[in-house]
Amino acid sequence: MLKCREVVIYADHLLAGELSVVERAKLHLHLAICRHCRRYVRQLRVLIGALQRLGARASSDVAAAVMRAIHARAGTSRS
Ligand SMILES: [Zn+2]
Repeated sequence: MLKCREVVIYADHLLAGELSVVERAKLHLHLAICRHCRRYVRQLRVLIGALQRLGARASSDVAAAVMRAIHARAGTSRS
């Protein structure tokens, strides 16, 4: 079972289309039971979409870094 902090890394690769079938299965299994990570992945998708609509050439790495900074500032870092 993935840990929440591993989901941050997996989600980044998921949104970049870089996960294997097995890795995707592990991620979706975790997302099925962890609402915090579901929210994180949803927010990451929204953020990436917004950055793309703004014309930024932001990769999912940039979006993930922004999300981590937001969580750190809000004190909502995952385990
Ligand atoms: Zn989680």
